[in-house]
Amino acid sequence: MKQIKSIKTKLLIRIVLSFIFLSIVIQAIVFVSFRNFSMNTSKERALSAAELIRDTITSFMLLGVYDKRDIFLDRIKHTHGLKEIKVLRGKAVIQQFGQSNRNDKAPTFLEDEVLKTGNIESAVSEGVFNVEYAIVIPYKASADGRVKCLQCHKAAEGDVLGAVSLVVDITGQRRTGLSIVSYMVVVSMLFSIGTLYIIYVFFKPYTELFHKLRLGFENAAVGDFSSTKVNVTLSDEAGDVARGFNTMTDNLSATLSSIDNKVSILMGYKTASTGNALKDTAKTVDMLVKIYNFKRTIEKDAVKSDIFLRIEQMLMEMGIENFSIYEVNSDKNTIKNVVSRAAAENCPSLGQLNKDTVSWCDETILTDPSQCRVIRTGGIVDSREFSQVCPNFIHIEENQTGKLNYYCIPINIGGHTGDVVQIVSCKDCDELTSSLIPYINAHLKECEPVLEGKTFMELLREQSLIDQLTGLYNRRFLDEITNSLCRATIRRKTLLGILMIDIDHFKEVNDTHGHGVGDMVLQTVASIIKASVRESDIVIRYGGEEILVLLVDATEGKSIEVAEKIRLNIESESIETPTVALKRTVSIGVSEFPTDSDKFWPCQKLADTALYKAKNSGRNKVCFHKKDA
Ligand code: GH3
Ligand code: MG
Ligand code: MG
Repeated sequence: MKQIKSIKTKLLIRIVLSFIFLSIVIQAIVFVSFRNFSMNTSKERALSAAELIRDTITSFMLLGVYDKRDIFLDRIKHTHGLKEIKVLRGKAVIQQFGQSNRNDKAPTFLEDEVLKTGNIESAVSEGVFNVEYAIVIPYKASADGRVKCLQCHKAAEGDVLGAVSLVVDITGQRRTGLSIVSYMVVVSMLFSIGTLYIIYVFFKPYTELFHKLRLGFENAAVGDFSSTKVNVTLSDEAGDVARGFNTMTDNLSATLSSIDNKVSILMGYKTASTGNALKDTAKTVDMLVKIYNFKRTIEKDAVKSDIFLRIEQMLMEMGIENFSIYEVNSDKNTIKNVVSRAAAENCPSLGQLNKDTVSWCDETILTDPSQCRVIRTGGIVDSREFSQVCPNFIHIEENQTGKLNYYCIPINIGGHTGDVVQIVSCKDCDELTSSLIPYINAHLKECEPVLEGKTFMELLREQSLIDQLTGLYNRRFLDEITNSLCRATIRRKTLLGILMIDIDHFKEVNDTHGHGVGDMVLQTVASIIKASVRESDIVIRYGGEEILVLLVDATEGKSIEVAEKIRLNIESESIETPTVALKRTVSIGVSEFPTDSDKFWPCQKLADTALYKAKNSGRNKVCFHKKDA
């Protein structure tokens, strides 16, 4: 991660660098100025000494005491603090008076240059311990002035007659300069440290405020408002910023938790907190919107099966792949497994299951709902709380080894468990399933009133279409389905077998044993007929003791076969009543749609005619209408 430098560090680095730069520049300027000053002072001293030497030596020459000049030169050397004095003869003077016998040292390069060019030359030689300033000043022949050189010298005007070479020791000046610079370094360092300390103390609360604000914003960005407080120690504008930040985060935190609480009350459960209040709130509100949309959608669904389909879709969109939905019929005391899903490919532990026929529970619960723990207790059954809580979960072994878990949720209808949603999770998807359970519960809670309404509606409708005595469909139901049934038969190019059944001499039963026994006989005959046909066939109490059977998707000749089977089953049955055991027979008239007529009611009429034919020809028989008969 990229390391972010704090304002404090950046400020300190910049101030320290500025101070170092400033003190180097000042010290360099002081050093150079001092050096120049020392040089100029030495040069001026040397020049005045040279002038004095020239004039005095000239005077010595004129006075004829030239040989006494060494005393004078020693004196000058001493009084002017010179290290060395040399009086040099120029070429013309050497030619006229010969070489001086005093200068035992050979002329330096600087001295040669001056004698040649006639210009003043100077040079500084710096050693580790000493510094020397050498200056060579020429004397030039002049006809004018107080001293008329050309009176004695055989030289032309402007010729270099000689030079004075002086060496000044300026080690002392350098030492003084260096000590001044050192003194300044120390003073400027102390000043810098003092200034830095003042700046540091002054800026510390501000840099700390920035640091805390940065942390606060970082925490607020991930929805953590509990550790965003910024301590306010400043009373100026910076303090106002910190107080403003605290107020803002307090308000945000309060608003978000208020939203969260209200939404939780609305949904009936509290969502799992991730510590990020912003994300949690967004997720909760998103869920609320989804649940609201879900409820609006299922409210518009026509039948319960559509709602079950919607629940299935909802679970699959959430990523739940193993589940079942059971519809409970409390009147009939049965359970129907309306939806069942198992994604074996994502759950290795389910690999052996057949995806299409999977059932998570033992079949006994289908015929005996009290075997279902959810129905019996009316509460949620969660195997993660107590493994093997329900003995009817068939994959008990996987449950035992922790490979499979189940979570069964009741949907309450009319004060009892109306439907059950069972979520099964394998080891790999356990975490996802657990996190989704609250949302699933919230969705199913919304389903309850809608499913309750639909269940009662369907019950009411069922009751209006079902005959209360026999449990068979009634004539109203026949009126409702005939059109669609005929269209479907024609579309599928199959036959619809029509069987008109009438109990033989039924009046006799009533007359002999009473109406109660007659009702029982009617019920038994109805159930024998129902048991003799397929689930998809339709059995209708047509009127009195006449029963109409519609054989869906029948093949040619099949209708008469089924009719004969019904006749035989009834004939062979001994109908038990509390008072007497009876044997009854039926007569059956058969026709087929659309082969006998391309319209239903004429076709039914033909079956009715066939029934009368059976009655008239001795009863207890099956008569098949033949178009050409
Ligand atoms: P057959 O059909 O063989 O000609 O003789 P039948 O005695 O059955 O004559 P019919 O079909 O005319 O008589 C129908 C009788 O069924 C008349 C009526 O009393 C009786 N019945 C009709 N509905 C019910 C019912 O709901 N319960 C009882 N117990 N009897 C009914
Ligand atoms: Mg009858
Ligand atoms: Mg009858």
